[in-house]
Amino acid sequence: MLLREVEYAKPGSVAEALELLAADDGARALAGGQTLINVMKARAASPDKLVDLNGLEELRGIELAGDGTLTIGAMTTYSELMASAEAKARPILGEVCATIADVQVRNRGTIGGNVCASDPTNHLPPLMVAVGARMTITTAGGGEHEVPAEDFFLGVYLTAVGPGELLTRISIPAGKKDGFAAVTLGADGTCICNAAATVNGNVRVALGCVDAVPVLLETDSADEIPEAVRAANLEPPSDVHASSDYRTHLATVLATRAAQEAAAR
Ligand SMILES: Cc1cc2nc3c(=O)[nH]c(=O)nc-3n(C[C@H](O)[C@H](O)[C@H](O)COP(=O)(O)OP(=O)(O)OC[C@H]3O[C@@H](n4cnc5c(N)ncnc54)[C@H](O)[C@@H]3O)c2cc1C
Repeated sequence: MLLREVEYAKPGSVAEALELLAADDGARALAGGQTLINVMKARAASPDKLVDLNGLEELRGIELAGDGTLTIGAMTTYSELMASAEAKARPILGEVCATIADVQVRNRGTIGGNVCASDPTNHLPPLMVAVGARMTITTAGGGEHEVPAEDFFLGVYLTAVGPGELLTRISIPAGKKDGFAAVTLGADGTCICNAAATVNGNVRVALGCVDAVPVLLETDSADEIPEAVRAANLEPPSDVHASSDYRTHLATVLATRAAQEAAAR
């Protein structure tokens, strides 16, 4: 389907992008367009203006600090994360990006767009929660604040990034003992259920596809995961791909699998 007529702006700086977004309630940031353009074609979203972030080098790049912290610009693509020597400091990032959709989506889709879309079936929201990522949000005027990933996702398509704001970068602390497990629709397809885990003394697991936002569980060991999932009283949706009961079953299986993978590293 053809797009409805929409204004287009390509700012030369983050400050200019923020001004454009703040000046117009109907303006939306355009990152890789792999979600936004599709929902516009389906008429599920109809912004008046697209503010294209693709020219903004300030929002790209991956830096590795001496303490192992990674700082990733919001406009960094999955392919860039997969190819980056710095990102190998937390190998799970590139590994999970390599399982997202296909080469075209991975070349265009960005880490910032993936989390800002806050689609419950996306791969990166639970991963960001499990690894304890911190999201930097920049407001018009240049003010910044940092939000932990577990507080960033507020609902389906809803995050802590408010109108006129941008997610500018994501910080991920050092760590290697991570795991990710998913049941998808076909190879590299959309997730029916997924789980990301990190082991650092205790086990931290974030479940995806079982609620509007990732569900965080913390246990002392992988053996305690079935009980933690039961205690979470999940009520995942039923749809043509899986019943609520099946998703709940998968939550236990995949959380355990992800935690075992993390512990074995
Ligand atoms: C065929 C297909 C299959 C896919 N399968 C999967 C999959 O299995 N797993 C998966 O995780 N994803 C999947 N995706 C989605 C894909 O990963 C998207 O790239 C991603 O969801 C959005 O990233 P984007 O950079 O394209 O963002 P866009 O589509 O450009 O933007 C998405 C939303 O985020 C907002 N936004 C973007 N960047 C910022 C920012 N810096 N600050 C504030 N708001 C921002 C936009 O305004 C928009 O509302 C698939 C996409 C396609 C087309």
